[in-house]
Amino acid sequence: SSFDLVKLSEEITEEMQLVAKQNQHIIYQHTGKESMVSLDQNLLKNCIFNLIANAIKYSGENTFIEYNTEINEQGCTVIIKDNGIGIPEKDQKHLFEPFFRAHNTGNIPGTGLGLNIVARYTYLMNGRVDFTSIVNQGTSFTITFTKA
Ligand code: ATP
Ligand code: MG
Repeated sequence: SSFDLVKLSEEITEEMQLVAKQNQHIIYQHTGKESMVSLDQNLLKNCIFNLIANAIKYSGENTFIEYNTEINEQGCTVIIKDNGIGIPEKDQKHLFEPFFRAHNTGNIPGTGLGLNIVARYTYLMNGRVDFTSIVNQGTSFTITFTKA
């Protein structure tokens, strides 16, 4: 089934803005003329929620969280980028393992399940999830769906 990714994203942005920290601004932008995608809306929504929840949790007040979607001839991408604590290089290869938490989380609460869910749901949708991260600079997650 297909749904409107821009409409969903605007709803998610509004909801997540309510649970963001003081002066954390979630900036949503879409690129492309098309806004409909043929994906499982509930699985994708859950992935985006988890990634934005992490961006909120692992970054400070007075920061921007960039949420971008793009639909083009190649397919669809979803990007969530923060300017938060980042992920230490030696922890990065374990990030999608259940219950794994990076060593710089301090007393920030969490169970280490969110990203494992994102990885499994993305796999179910035939997509892939990638990230880049630099400690004390920030993290960017990208979910990519390539057209068959
Ligand atoms: P929860 O199960 O509630 O989501 P969690 O946030 O600890 O708990 P994950 O979402 O799976 O678990 O993330 C795993 C770990 O990856 C986190 O504990 C944190 O160390 C690191 N991490 C994930 N997203 C970010 C991010 N945006 N910035 C910095 N570290 C992150
Ligand atoms: Mg999480």
